[in-house]
Amino acid sequence: MDERAISLPVKCLSCNEQLTTPIVCDGCHTLYPVPQSADFFDLLSIPRTFALDSESLSRAYRSIARQIHPDTFGGDSIEARNLSTRLSAQINEAFATLRDPVKRAAYILEIAGGPSAIEVREVPGTLLGEVMMLREEIEQAQKSGDEAAMEKHRETITTRREDTLRLIADRADALWEASDEDKKAFRVLLNSIKYFDNLLAELQADPLAAGKDH
Ligand SMILES: [Zn+2]
Repeated sequence: MDERAISLPVKCLSCNEQLTTPIVCDGCHTLYPVPQSADFFDLLSIPRTFALDSESLSRAYRSIARQIHPDTFGGDSIEARNLSTRLSAQINEAFATLRDPVKRAAYILEIAGGPSAIEVREVPGTLLGEVMMLREEIEQAQKSGDEAAMEKHRETITTRREDTLRLIADRADALWEASDEDKKAFRVLLNSIKYFDNLLAELQADPLAAGKDH
């Protein structure tokens, strides 16, 4: 189980209503600054797990975003307006991070105390050689305008990325209790995603397209 379970304020200080999120009261709309111990999962009041249901995530985000939206506090004190702007930015960041599986996995690794991409830059063993070879092949295919080869590369790389993401998904929820070694291995796996993304971006950008007649 997650050991970071924390006790957030449970009742609104203004109206004594039960708080369902730590930053805003459903009842009287009083805003509260983000508690120091709260993470993105707490902010959106959703279970701290990788296996999120994206529908519930969006619903939680929309509901809170609406309650703390700066427009709602137009007539209030400058403090309330500033707080609402600040909270909205934090909620947006939480949502952007948790809705994206790669960012979500990196975030869970971070709050589970694992290494960042700066601390551990390694990628899985043969990846760099593979990427170099693919890059050359892509360049060749682009030069010769070989669309079929490009499409094949696109498929191969997308599949590799999906396979890697599946491994990440399988391991993410075990991070809370993982050893340092396992957390490092997770980081190494996560690092490989951006190589796939870069290759896919190269396949999108056709350097010859600009000069072509259509
Ligand atoms: Zn209240």
